[in-house]
Amino acid sequence: MQNPEKSWFGEKQVSPDEKTENVIEVFDSVADRYDLMNDLMSGGMHRLWKDKFIRMIRPRSHINARAMDYLDVAGGTGDIAFRIRKKIGSGANIALCDLNDNMLSVGRNRAIDKGWINDFSWITGNAEKLPLPDESVDIYTIAFGLRNVTHIDTALAEAYRVLRKGGKFFCLEFSHVQPTLLAKAYDMYSYNVIPFIGDKVTNDRDSYQYLVESIRKFPTQENLAQRMRDANFNSVKYNNMSAGIVAVHQGKKM
Ligand code: SAM
Repeated sequence: MQNPEKSWFGEKQVSPDEKTENVIEVFDSVADRYDLMNDLMSGGMHRLWKDKFIRMIRPRSHINARAMDYLDVAGGTGDIAFRIRKKIGSGANIALCDLNDNMLSVGRNRAIDKGWINDFSWITGNAEKLPLPDESVDIYTIAFGLRNVTHIDTALAEAYRVLRKGGKFFCLEFSHVQPTLLAKAYDMYSYNVIPFIGDKVTNDRDSYQYLVESIRKFPTQENLAQRMRDANFNSVKYNNMSAGIVAVHQGKKM
């Protein structure tokens, strides 16, 4: 049972402020090796999940003859924003917002390498209190980020606030595996192998232990869909990938 004054940081109950601080520390610690670790932990699968996520978004550069506004929250080192940029060229406005400066800084360096540094706005900010005006965004994305947010419902309300009418919300996140046998194998892999790789590659077992635990604490597919409806989103649906290891939730602001 969760104490309402407390938040989950992995399996530990901490105050909401401590959770936010701890999440910043985790990503400070892993920022430099974050991209490498994603490949190692998922066997490259995260690239396929992200590619499919982008295909579901079907990005385009303009709407009614004006440039579209994209906001990638928890944008980290840029994987989602860069894929959107690759799909639509430089015509749209793409902003990345993240709590962690070190993650954004790795992202900025990657953008420089691609010759894309001026194609993005880089915003240090919290998904729970976005430094953006109401109704200023057409497409809101959050990939592998919502799990780390202290108050998920506050972040959903913020997403709804910044979206324009007709705007869409897309979330890619680790979720809950359905078939029991696969769920057991996945548990074995994630509780044993992921912290082990984290220890060897980043010398930081705890951050990857947190990663695994935070996945287990994240709402089920149906629960998150209901919370999106409670936040006033319409046409809410979700699609599992890899038997529910990850899921994409989407909804529309009418
Ligand atoms: N979206 C990127 C990707 O798919 O590779 C990065 C995902 S990384 C697992 C999670 C990111 O969420 C980190 O960069 C972290 O700093 C950010 N984050 C965690 N809590 C946040 C919050 N409350 N607001 C904004 N960003 C947050």
